Amino acid sequence: MKRAREGLARALSRALCALGLHELEVIEVRIGFGPSGTVEKVRCRRCGYRGARRGRA
Ligand SMILES: [Zn+2]
Repeated sequence: MKRAREGLARALSRALCALGLHELEVIEVRIGFGPSGTVEKVRCRRCGYRGARRGRA
């Protein structure tokens, strides 16, 4: 029973990632000056997706 539920949770997580709803954690913050502003490097805890997003300018 427990196993089946874990499988379901994993399938759901994968579906969310496929939709672009990653569980992101910030792995690096680069503070920039000027127009580029701060850039955060992020990684998904579930699928390992990596990306960067711009913080507040
Ligand atoms: Zn993901």
